[in-house]
Amino acid sequence: MESEKIHCLIIGSGPAGYTAAIYAARANMKPVLYQGIQPGGQLTITTEVENYPGYANGVQGPEMMVDFEKQAARMGADIRFGLATKVDFSAPPFKVWIDEDKLVEADAVIIATGASAKWLGLESEERLNGFGVSACAVCDGFFFRGKEVAIVGAGDTAAEEALYLSKLCSTVHMFIRREEMRASKVMQERVQRTPNIKVYWNTNTDEILGENKVESVRVKNVKTGDLQTIPISGFFVAIGHQPNSDIFKGWLDMDEAGYLKTIPGTSKTNIEGVFAAGDVQDKIYRQAVTAAGSGCMAALDAERYLSAKGLV
Ligand SMILES: Cc1cc2nc3c(=O)[nH]c(=O)nc-3n(C[C@H](O)[C@H](O)[C@H](O)COP(=O)(O)OP(=O)(O)OC[C@H]3O[C@@H](n4cnc5c(N)ncnc54)[C@H](O)[C@@H]3O)c2cc1C
Repeated sequence: MESEKIHCLIIGSGPAGYTAAIYAARANMKPVLYQGIQPGGQLTITTEVENYPGYANGVQGPEMMVDFEKQAARMGADIRFGLATKVDFSAPPFKVWIDEDKLVEADAVIIATGASAKWLGLESEERLNGFGVSACAVCDGFFFRGKEVAIVGAGDTAAEEALYLSKLCSTVHMFIRREEMRASKVMQERVQRTPNIKVYWNTNTDEILGENKVESVRVKNVKTGDLQTIPISGFFVAIGHQPNSDIFKGWLDMDEAGYLKTIPGTSKTNIEGVFAAGDVQDKIYRQAVTAAGSGCMAALDAERYLSAKGLV
C-alpha cells in the first residue's frame, strides 16, 4: 500500500478546509488537503451568495469556492482529489486512509468534512431529485416563482425555508408529522401568520408523483389514514443535516446527532493534535463565514501544537 508522512492533513474542501489550508500553508506547515466527493463543499450547489464579506456585489457559490481553492493553492497548499475512508487516531502520527488504498500519516489533522442534507428516503424523492425535488429553498425556490410547492419539516430551518418560499411561490404546502412544530415560537408564529403557507398537521409524505418532473404529492394523515393528492411543481425537503463524521466514530467525541465536539472557544477535539472546523462541529450557525473563521482557528491551533512539539 502506498504511504506518505506529512505535517498537516486537512480533510474537506469547503470554506473551513480551504481557509485552514491558506493559514497552514502560510505558516509553512506544508498542508495536504483532500477534497472529498464534493470539491468546494455545500456552496457548490447554490447560486448567489450575498452574505460573505468582501464580495460587495454578491458572488455565485461555485465561483466563490474556486476563488477559495485558487487562494489556497497560490499559498502552496497541496490540494488533491480523494476521500478519507478510515482513520486510526490511537497515537501520533495519525493514520488516515484515502480511497481505501493510500495511507497518509500526519502529525496534525484538521477535520472540515461539513454536513449533508437529510432525505426522507422515498424512491420518488431520489428519482425526481433535481427535477423538482430539492433540499435547498434558497438554491431552487427561484425556479418555482408563482407556482405551488410543498415543504417537509418542522424545525427552524424548515420554517425559514417555508417563509423564503412564500415570498416566491403562490402557495406553500407545509407537511408536519406531528401536532406541533419543533421550530422556535417566533418562527412558528411567523409561519402561521403567513397567508400563503398552508400547514398540514399529522401529515406524512406518502409519494411524490410525476414521471420526469414533480406534478403532485400524495400525503397521508397519520391519525385518520386519509390520503390526499395535492398538485405541486416543487417539493422541498427540510428535515435537517447530517454531519459527515461517520469515519471518526469511536475516536472523537460527538453529540447524539454526530456533530464533533470541540473545546469551547477552540478547534481542539478530545484527541490532542486532531482539530475540527466548520459545519461538522457547528449545528448552530452553519454559515460560510463562520466555517471559514473556524478553519482559521483550526490552522492556528494546529500550528501552535506542531510548533510546541518542535515539528514546524
Ligand atoms: C444550498 C445551500 C446554500 C447555502 N447558502 C449559503 C449562503 O448564502 N451563505 C452562507 O454563509 N452559507 C450558506 N450555506 C451554508 C454553507 O454552505 C455552509 O455553512 C458551509 O459550506 C460549511 O462549510 P464547511 O467547510 O464546514 O463544509 P462543507 O461546505 O459542507 O464542505 C465539506 C467538505 O468536506 C468534504 N468531505 C466530506 N467528507 C469527506 C471525507 N471523508 N474525505 C474527504 N473530504 C470529505 C466534502 O467533499 C466537502 O468538500 C448554504 C448551504 C447550502 C446547502
